Amino acid sequence: MTRETPLDRLASAKRIVVKVGSALIADAGSVRQTWLNSLASDIAARRTAGQEVILVSSGAIALGRNKLGPDRPRKLEEKQAAAALGQPLLMAALTQAFAPHNTPVAQTLLTLEDTENRRRWLNARATLEALLGAGAVPVINENDSVATDEIRYGDNDRLAARVAQMMGADILVLLSDIDGLYTADPRHNPEAEHLPILTDITADHDAMASGSNAQADLGSGGMITKLTAARIAQSAGCSTVITLGSKDRPLQALMNGARATWILSTLTPDTARQIWLKGHLTPEGSISIDAGAATALASGASLLPVGVVTTSGDFARGAAVAIKDPIGTTIAKGISAYSSADITQIAGLHSDQIEQELGYRGRPAVVHRNDLVLER
Ligand code: GLU
Repeated sequence: MTRETPLDRLASAKRIVVKVGSALIADAGSVRQTWLNSLASDIAARRTAGQEVILVSSGAIALGRNKLGPDRPRKLEEKQAAAALGQPLLMAALTQAFAPHNTPVAQTLLTLEDTENRRRWLNARATLEALLGAGAVPVINENDSVATDEIRYGDNDRLAARVAQMMGADILVLLSDIDGLYTADPRHNPEAEHLPILTDITADHDAMASGSNAQADLGSGGMITKLTAARIAQSAGCSTVITLGSKDRPLQALMNGARATWILSTLTPDTARQIWLKGHLTPEGSISIDAGAATALASGASLLPVGVVTTSGDFARGAAVAIKDPIGTTIAKGISAYSSADITQIAGLHSDQIEQELGYRGRPAVVHRNDLVLER
C-alpha cells in the first residue's frame, strides 16, 4: 500500500484556503505588487488544475494607516479607520494581480458572527459557494472597520481556519515569515529543529510556539495563533501547512517541496462534518417527511419542500432539527434553511414555488444534504 504524502494531499485537494499576512502584502505602507502578482499566478495555476482557492488576506490596516496621518494608529477607532482606507487599496492591488489570469476577485468581509452563528453561516457559505461556482477567487478579510474587540476574530489565522471549516476545505495554507514550527526560534538558537509533520498538536508544541517563537510572524498572529488555527482546521478534517510566504510563487515552491510544517488531519471534511452534525446538534424541533423524501434522503439527497408533510416545534432558520419518516422514526438530523413557520407554508410545494409563497427567494432545499446526517 502506498501512503499518501502531504504533497499528494495538496495536489488532490478540491478546495484550498490560503492565508497571507500583512507583512507579505505591504512594505512600509505600500503594496508589494510583484509578490502579489506571483501569488496570483500560483492561485491561477491551482484553478487551472481544477482546484478551488479562497484567499484570506490581511493588509487593510497596514496599507491604510499612513493615510490617516504620520502617527501610527493606536486607538481601536483609528485602526478601524485605517482598515477602511486600506481595504479598497488591497482589493485594487489584488484585482490588478489577477487581471492577466482573467480571474475576478470578490471581496467578502466577515465578522465573527458570520461563522459562529448558524443562521448567518448558512448565508456566508452560500455566497462563497456561488462565487466559487462563478470562477471567482473570494478574498476574505475581517470586517475590521465595524468589528470591535469583543466581537472580533482578532487575527486572520483563526478567521482562515473558520472559513476552511465552514467551506469544507481540504487544505489550509498559512503563508508566514518562517518556514514552519521549530523546537525553538531558529534565528537565535542554532540547536532549533524544524518539525516537518505533526499529527497531533500537544502542549509541547504550544510551548515551542510561545516563548521566543511567539513573534515569529510579524502580523497580529505569531506561531501560537497558527497552531490554534491548525487545531480548528484539524477537527474539521482539513490539514494545515505553515510555510514561508515571502519569496515569489510560494505555493509553487510548496508543491516543489519547500520546507514547511504540516499539521495533518486524520478525517476528511465530509466525515468531520458528519461527526459534528451527529454529536453537537440538539434538535429544536422536527420535520416530518413523506416516504418518497425518506428514500431520497437515504440515498444522499437534500430535503426539498415537496417532501415535507409537517413540522413540530417553533424553530428559526439555522436551527438543528430532527427529520422523521411517516412512521415517526427519526431518520436524520440537520440544519434547517427555513424557520418552522416558513416550512409550514411551503410544505408540499416545488422549490420554484417558494418565492411566490413566501415573498422571498429562499434556498431550494429545506435541509441541504451538506447539512444533514443520517441516523444509522
Ligand atoms: N484584518 C487585519 C487587516 O487586514 C489583519 C489581521 C491579522 O493580521 O491577522 O489589516
